[in-house]
Amino acid sequence: MVRKSLNSLAGKLIIAVGTLMTLGSIVFGYIFVHYEENIMMNSLVNYAYSTADLVKKGIYYGMLTNHRDAIEQTIEVISTSAAIKNISVFNKSGRIAFSSKNEDIGKVVSKDNVTCRICHKSGEKPLINIPEFKNWMIVPDTPSKTLRFVIPIFNEPSCFSNSAVSCHHHADSQKVLGVLVTDFSTATVDATIKQNRIGTFLFGGLFILIISFVLCVILYKFVSKPVSLLDEGMHKLAKGELDHIIEINSNDEMGLLARTFNSMASDIKNYKDNMENWTKALEAEIQKKTSEIMKAHDQLINAEKLASLGRMAAGVAHELNSPLTGIVTFAYLMLKRTPSENKQDIEDLHVIIEQAERCSKIIKGLLGFSRKTTSEKVLVDINALTESTIAMVRNQAKFHNIKFNLNFDDAIPQVSTDPNQLQQVFINLFINAADAMNERGQVTVATRTILDTADGKKYVEIEFTDSGPGISEEHLGRVFEPFFTTKPVGKGTGLGLAVSYGIIKKHGGNISVRSEMGKGASFFVRLPVENNQSAGE
Ligand code: ADP
Repeated sequence: MVRKSLNSLAGKLIIAVGTLMTLGSIVFGYIFVHYEENIMMNSLVNYAYSTADLVKKGIYYGMLTNHRDAIEQTIEVISTSAAIKNISVFNKSGRIAFSSKNEDIGKVVSKDNVTCRICHKSGEKPLINIPEFKNWMIVPDTPSKTLRFVIPIFNEPSCFSNSAVSCHHHADSQKVLGVLVTDFSTATVDATIKQNRIGTFLFGGLFILIISFVLCVILYKFVSKPVSLLDEGMHKLAKGELDHIIEINSNDEMGLLARTFNSMASDIKNYKDNMENWTKALEAEIQKKTSEIMKAHDQLINAEKLASLGRMAAGVAHELNSPLTGIVTFAYLMLKRTPSENKQDIEDLHVIIEQAERCSKIIKGLLGFSRKTTSEKVLVDINALTESTIAMVRNQAKFHNIKFNLNFDDAIPQVSTDPNQLQQVFINLFINAADAMNERGQVTVATRTILDTADGKKYVEIEFTDSGPGISEEHLGRVFEPFFTTKPVGKGTGLGLAVSYGIIKKHGGNISVRSEMGKGASFFVRLPVENNQSAGE
């Protein structure tokens, strides 16, 4: 954790700035303390010099008049000051003539003594031209150090030309009469310097602590926190949480980075949503196409089944046609030969003929389904053909209670077809509708031109919709099978739609059904429009 914090950007900045500040504070603290010490020492030296000079001036008159008592008294009074440790007056030969310490009076000090070395720096000859205020030294005494001022007492004219003191005057060739040594205690200055050092150290440390704290707060608020929010945002984005928003509202680079990041995340989300929508649309399209393929596949199987059934039916019909013709012919011959009083035989022969003709009718239907009959195609107006077919069936009792609704598109083109066969298909569809509705209801016939997207061809479509009970799902796939019927025996043969299917296929068209139980049934007949035919022709 600590290692991680130190490796972070904020951690590195804190260490760098903290180190710089600490070093800076130490250097400036040292310079400041040193400067302060110099100032204080200079103040002490100035004070000491003026005091030493005062002592010199104080004893001047006493020395001039050789009043030893006055000198001693002056020295004693001034040395009572707390800052002064000792005052001594040395004569020229190094003997202490006066001193605030009585025990020192009379002691002789050699020129090698550290105090004497201030003036006697190189050998015997003293340096008399040193400025007085520089004649000092620090002596490492206890309990406090001593600032020692050594001021020479020069032989002035008043000393050797004053008649009042002629008894002890000095020769005018003598430059220095003695030295005044004044010792000052540095205790007060030392204590102040010590206090300054401690203060500087404490305030410096406190300053570093406060600045470091403020720096930590600033770096946390403006660097560390935004960086961790950005880091968290990136991790969430990587995990796929695209709704996550980084909340940095500042106007600085971090805010800009967060706003750029948020807009990037929203773009990614939009792309992802679009991709998902595309994928869903693609899946739906694939599903639609798959069901279309399945339907087409089923239709193909159905068509193949119907084709093979048609071939089989054609074979059977062909084989049965001749014997049936024979049965009918011979039955008629027998009928002619049968005497009129033999009524039962005549009746039986009529039944044979009737049944044989019914069989013949079925066979013809089978031949129509199997396309074995010939047809002649002409250009036909489908609307007119439909209308004439309706007019034909309308007169029959079966259709007396059926209402026909016509919804024709007048612009449909003519189609090349065998009108008789097509009429047969229409009649089949009308009869089935009437049967389904129990001869009471509505039949709507609509025509239109359509473009089949599957093969890109144009067709005329005729839709027959009735208001009957509809066809169950179970029967829907079987209505075009030959012999499939739900009508009672003797009424339905199950060939009507099978034959219609054969006819329409022979025309290159298609017939299909759509129905739901309880919602009627719709049959769609599609006939191809030849290339040179166009709408409205
Ligand atoms: P048939 O009319 O001799 O039964 P079809 O091949 O014409 O033979 O019809 C087959 C079957 O299709 C009918 O028996 C009937 O069950 C069903 N069918 C045809 N048309 C309709 C319709 N409009 N409504 C309901 N069922 C129908």
